[in-house]
Amino acid sequence: MKVIDLRSDTVTKPSLEMRRAMAAAEVGDDVYGEDPTVNRLEALTAEMSGTEAALFVPSGTQGNLLALLAHCQRGDEYIAGQQAHNYRYEAGGAAVVGGIQPQPLEFSADGSLDLTLVEQFIKPADSHFARTRLLSLENTQAGKALSPQYLSAAREFADRHQLGLHLDGARAFNAAVFHKQSIADVVRPFDTASLCLSKGLGAPVGSVLCGKKELLADARRWRKMLGGGMRQAGVLAAAGIYALEKNIEGLQRDHEHAELLAEKLKQVPGLAVRREENQTNMVFLDMPIETAEKLKAHLAGKQIHIGTGQTVRLVTHLDLSMDDIERAAREMIEFFAKGKK
Ligand SMILES: *Cc1c(COP(=O)(O)O)cnc(C)c1O
Repeated sequence: MKVIDLRSDTVTKPSLEMRRAMAAAEVGDDVYGEDPTVNRLEALTAEMSGTEAALFVPSGTQGNLLALLAHCQRGDEYIAGQQAHNYRYEAGGAAVVGGIQPQPLEFSADGSLDLTLVEQFIKPADSHFARTRLLSLENTQAGKALSPQYLSAAREFADRHQLGLHLDGARAFNAAVFHKQSIADVVRPFDTASLCLSKGLGAPVGSVLCGKKELLADARRWRKMLGGGMRQAGVLAAAGIYALEKNIEGLQRDHEHAELLAEKLKQVPGLAVRREENQTNMVFLDMPIETAEKLKAHLAGKQIHIGTGQTVRLVTHLDLSMDDIERAAREMIEFFAKGKK
């Protein structure tokens, strides 16, 4: 029986064709700037995102950290969401490595940070305070695509307050596809953006940090310091190029699959299915943790994998077909019909 893994879009495995592209990659020493495939990936990403420069990095976590280090000095502050990946889920890297203070704020229901709220937390120029330097947004945030209007407003806001603007764009391509925009439209308002190749786009490894030239030059130096300078990384970059050339359009299919999954699960009486209007490839189910544990165990017996917790996040991705989504929905509906046995 095929394994259906709904825990994350990071679980995708490189396809045979992607592996062929990796095997055929021309390589060189990228720390010397001599890997033609890495150079091609960086040039392609900069071109697609309409940015001055791009840097291939091993992970989205490193992309975010390099950006924070490039924007902020020791004693500076960045404002981010309370649930933002680069505040909550990156082991406190900005504080540990950069001496950079986070100012977390609650995200709004649509995944944005309310700019009136942000304004209240910008510190005055006074020796009591850290210097607020950067606003960091996430798009998509928990699968929710930020509106183009909000992104323009955020740019104006950052200019007015002389803040840098960073995008954690681990799933920025999902946002672009959702709004039928190009990735350049989604990235344009930002000074830096970290884009994951290893989520919905299906590459095994890697992210690209793109943005302004001077910031990227700094980021390259920090990457070396953190041990992220890779040698014949072209084998990995080739997977990234393949992902950018072949796997963006398919995100639309993932969004439709998530919509279908949500619609089917809404048939379960009393099940709290959360899927906001701007949701892309995720569905959230709220339930008591004991129920979640039982559901997870039940599904594991059917080769279907989900996470657990009071909120169960289901994520669609390119290794799942319509049939898989239907099978997963059927098994979940059956579990609830039998009274959470
Ligand atoms: C996955 C993710 C990242 C980076 O993750 P890596 O596993 O380090 O590549 C950053 N931000 C968000 C919002 C993510 O979902």
